[in-house]
Amino acid sequence: MLIIGGGPTGLSAAVFLARHGVPVTVVERRTDALGHPRARAINPRTVELFRDAGLEPEILSECSRVYDENSQLIRARSLPSPELRRTSMARPHSAAGTAGVSPCAWAPIDQDRLEILLREHARKLGADLRFGSRLLDFADFGGDGVDARIEDADGVHDVRADLLIAADGHRSGVREALGIGFTGPGALGSSANFVFTADLEAQLRGRNLGVGHFDLPRPGTVLLPHDGTGRWVLGIPYHPAAGESLDDFTPRRCAELAAAAVGARPADITIVPQLGDGTTVLGYEVEARVAERLRSGPVFLIGDAAHVMPPTGAFGASTGIQDAHNLAWKIAAVLAGRAGPGLLDTYEAERLPVARFTMEQALLQLRERTGRDVPLPADVRGRRRRRRLRPAVRLGRDRRRAGRRRPGDRLRAGGTCPGRPGTPRPATCGCRATAGRSPPSTCTAGARCCSPDRTAPRGRTP
Ligand SMILES: Cc1cc2nc3c(=O)[nH]c(=O)nc-3n(C[C@H](O)[C@H](O)[C@H](O)COP(=O)(O)OP(=O)(O)OC[C@H]3O[C@@H](n4cnc5c(N)ncnc54)[C@H](O)[C@@H]3O)c2cc1C
Repeated sequence: MLIIGGGPTGLSAAVFLARHGVPVTVVERRTDALGHPRARAINPRTVELFRDAGLEPEILSECSRVYDENSQLIRARSLPSPELRRTSMARPHSAAGTAGVSPCAWAPIDQDRLEILLREHARKLGADLRFGSRLLDFADFGGDGVDARIEDADGVHDVRADLLIAADGHRSGVREALGIGFTGPGALGSSANFVFTADLEAQLRGRNLGVGHFDLPRPGTVLLPHDGTGRWVLGIPYHPAAGESLDDFTPRRCAELAAAAVGARPADITIVPQLGDGTTVLGYEVEARVAERLRSGPVFLIGDAAHVMPPTGAFGASTGIQDAHNLAWKIAAVLAGRAGPGLLDTYEAERLPVARFTMEQALLQLRERTGRDVPLPADVRGRRRRRRLRPAVRLGRDRRRAGRRRPGDRLRAGGTCPGRPGTPRPATCGCRATAGRSPPSTCTAGARCCSPDRTAPRGRTP
């Protein structure tokens, strides 16, 4: 089994496959760990999967100490400004918040820590992890597997595999080579991310900031605590279409931008490298899209290669890890002869709807938290519009029904009422005062009320 990409989903796939005894090789072009935490938490379902793999105790012991029951999500113009909105982050991270749906709670583990744990665990289980090597290209022989050309420090090697798992991230070269397209709103913006140290005690005013959404230096700015020791992560929207590039984010400019967000002096901000080569700023495309297919013959897409969603809701890494689990046990069952190859078709059938639904949730949360007019997929827009228009639709239906009554139609009790029981009697209701009694103000009679009696002769009403 060949896995391209040693991020959280590729490494999880290696763990889930290796624990079933499936020989697995992971090819990852990075040589060193990322200094940026990226995903800050995994959700209860993902913790359940790691519990099953024996990793839960290590994950819990590596959990970030910066999130606790008092952590708050804050929206404001800048960190010291009056808050426009404050939400407790305690619930999603506490056992009580998810007790009804899972035996596990959210685990606030930073992605870089999680990747280290997964690497160690995969190695212990016998996975062959090749960091500092990259996939150049591959040939797909359908049922006969895949030939891949891998380049590392020693040169280029051919690797033959029965199946290839593409966990190579949102710009997946494997997906592109297969010509698999996307659905979804697509690019929502670009974010320049950097890490800095600063003493923000005064600006925090005793608050335990979990996530800050600010309008300064630009609307859409996001501030996160890094490790609780005065280190912070800042994401600032930038606009490549307007000629901006990551090169514009020099350490000096980053210090000025961070100062505006947190209400400090640029001199009090120190920008910290995120990669071993001294890189300080990393670009992050905020996108929402899901691949049209998750399988092409012996190649499967998982993680960001299959779906990308905005970070709101912290779904990205968890959704990918759940893909990895779904696929791994199926591959193991087929290889062991416990299931036919048709089982592998259920991967796409099961995970594609999950990916689409989760992306929608991330978009809805982005809308709610930032107040941005975030585009929604057409079917979500349709569902929301239908929900908003439901009362009007009901009224229209009432009118249509009532419209069937023509002036002079005879009415009689016991026909179909155009209103719904318990709702105010629609103006279009066909009920009339009878025997000196007013018609009811609400539709109490349900389906049996008075309505046009088409069989009766026209011209008189009782
Ligand atoms: C700045 C930032 C902040 C984020 N914040 C959050 C968050 O708060 N919550 C959340 O859930 N998610 C967040 N995400 C998204 C989350 O990090 C991703 O969902 C997650 O990393 C997906 O994991 P992955 O393994 O599928 O892909 P990746 O982590 O992108 O890993 C893909 C790997 O494939 C390797 N690769 C690519 N091509 C090749 C090749 N040809 N050969 C060898 N290796 C290759 C890459 O080097 C990379 O390591 C954030 C992402 C970024 C960048």
